[in-house]
Amino acid sequence: MFCKNCGKDIPDNSMSCQNCGAPTNNQLDTGSNGWFLLGCCIPIAGLILYFVWKDQKPKTAKKCIIGFLTAIILTVIFYVVYFLLIMMGAAMMGI
Ligand SMILES: [Zn+2]
Repeated sequence: MFCKNCGKDIPDNSMSCQNCGAPTNNQLDTGSNGWFLLGCCIPIAGLILYFVWKDQKPKTAKKCIIGFLTAIILTVIFYVVYFLLIMMGAAMMGI
């Protein structure tokens, strides 16, 4: 890859540029689980951050979208279980 600051060719896995010392995407793109939790708690934020970061910070963006999808799946499961309980309750009451 190339340094965003000075344009020098640097190894793909380096944390900063050897030429000018500018931090690379590797340093910023930590893919922290905090972003996964954010996506779970505030799904819309996870979705927005995914589109903002998918090119510059692919690892972090992935955590955001996984958090978003987890929140969506949990919400769907919650409503399915809720619906089944209502149906069971109605059946038991002979409705
Ligand atoms: Zn540089």
